[in-house]
Amino acid sequence: MDALIVNNKTYRECHGHIFMDGSSYKDAMELHKNGVDAGVISARLKALSEAGVEYYRDGGDRLGASSFAARIAADYGIEYRTCVFAAHKKGSYGWIVGHAFSNASEFYRLVLRAKAEGADFIKLMVSGIMDFKTFGGLTGGGLKPREIPELIKIAHGEGFRVMSHANGADVIKAALEAGADSIEHGYFMDGACLKLLAETGAVWVPTLAAAAGFIGREGFGPGVAEQNLALQLENVRKAVGLGALIAAGSDAGAFGVDPVQGIAREHELLKSAGMAEKDILRGDRAVMERFRRL
Ligand SMILES: [Zn+2]
Repeated sequence: MDALIVNNKTYRECHGHIFMDGSSYKDAMELHKNGVDAGVISARLKALSEAGVEYYRDGGDRLGASSFAARIAADYGIEYRTCVFAAHKKGSYGWIVGHAFSNASEFYRLVLRAKAEGADFIKLMVSGIMDFKTFGGLTGGGLKPREIPELIKIAHGEGFRVMSHANGADVIKAALEAGADSIEHGYFMDGACLKLLAETGAVWVPTLAAAAGFIGREGFGPGVAEQNLALQLENVRKAVGLGALIAAGSDAGAFGVDPVQGIAREHELLKSAGMAEKDILRGDRAVMERFRRL
């Protein structure tokens, strides 16, 4: 019998950030700013292992926490993959999880730096994040569709898969057309986008728990998180129908997402959108097989 399905409680966290605690990225950055707090990261890995997590794909940080975790995760029985840090366009969202570039040659230098620091894949910040002020609203910035192909080509050229943080139909389409290996978050896809997702065979990690985590939070548009989540659930349902690959990643550690239990919540949400365990496993496996050095 296949090892991965012997224990149906076993999770693969396909999108997490080991450095964050689910409530305050500022506190997390403060905690690790003068060197990674080994005790905190070790305790988190232990808790993940006890919660049934056997695989963790880290979306990066700028303080070295994910590369530290990658070095010790085997001691906790966790297969760990990381981009080390994410790359974002200067002035756009992404400084919390990585480093900036202004043009393609600077991006290339970041790819080489990630390689030198032991990255398993490259994470490219294609767009901003949900602003939770208005339905469908995103923080500004991000890449223009025409900028995307060259960057993905550079990363592929250095032997890396590309994990693409992307929200909004236009840039998601551009990333898929450029050969992005995964779409992370992928909020606000339209029908054409979902069709392209299925056709390209890229993996989608819809991070439903990340929108769910904003429900009821003060200081944001009332009902917006609910609406964003409802659309995402509907899109997951459609994507399943189209045969797309969808993997479970909760954005563990992000605001409102428990760093350990987030993945269990993500499974509940994926199932509420019509996914069976075997569908989730198929997507998770694609992530595990692809997001290692080529
Ligand atoms: Zn993330």
